[in-house]
Amino acid sequence: MSNSPEYEGKAKQLIPTDDRNVVIQRFKNSATAFNGVKKGEFEGKGALNNAISSLLFSKLEAAGVPTHFISWDNATDMRVHRLQIIPLEVVVRNHVAGSLQKRTGLGEGTPLQPSIVETYYKKDELGDPILADTHVFALGILNADELETVKKAALAVNDVIRPVFADAGLKLIDFKLEFGWDSAGRLILGDEISPDTCRIWDAETNTKLDKDVFRHDLAGLIESYSVVAEKLGVDLNNPVEA
Ligand code: UDP
Repeated sequence: MSNSPEYEGKAKQLIPTDDRNVVIQRFKNSATAFNGVKKGEFEGKGALNNAISSLLFSKLEAAGVPTHFISWDNATDMRVHRLQIIPLEVVVRNHVAGSLQKRTGLGEGTPLQPSIVETYYKKDELGDPILADTHVFALGILNADELETVKKAALAVNDVIRPVFADAGLKLIDFKLEFGWDSAGRLILGDEISPDTCRIWDAETNTKLDKDVFRHDLAGLIESYSVVAEKLGVDLNNPVEA
């Protein structure tokens, strides 16, 4: 069995294992923003994102939200069930930021009640445009029942992880999820949940501690992600037991 990646994305590789239904998700140190226009390399980013994602996935599993997570294997590697990923970026928002701020003119940080779930078409060459439900159906990405399952699961993820961040003195502003079909035909959560894919602010000071620090040159990426890991109590050598 070769150890070369079968897939390489901007922040992760997928490496096959002896079991066809199991793959290694390897977290890279590279960061990109603005659809790959801005690039950087950060020693230790992969380990931070792998540990934080592993902790959050294990909490989701414990709460009964199915994910692709099997185990944290080592600093950069997570063992996961193979999924056929759906080409949607599912964004959950608790506070206004980023593209929603641009689209609505509301102030950054404005609380949203109820939280919002949005779907974007995962297609770099189109710049990941937002999709209405009717577009998701007409493009044949998901049917109405499947989309409802995904949206409910996205809100269930929020219900589990938002308090985890809140208890650590962190505000979960928004985050992006990806879902896929497993070998049993179940629609489950895949990808990662990390400071690369979430907006996370210090609850007291509103200091940004996520990829926005890289996007907008606000602070050091490793320093910021390390604050998130420390506040969450993540042990980088044994994150699931945290
Ligand atoms: N996000 C992501 N990957 C993407 C686009 C967005 O992980 O390709 C995350 C982003 O980090 C933020 C949330 O999804 O936590 C909402 O992003 P938004 O739509 O505001 O877009 P952005 O301002 O990041 O371009």
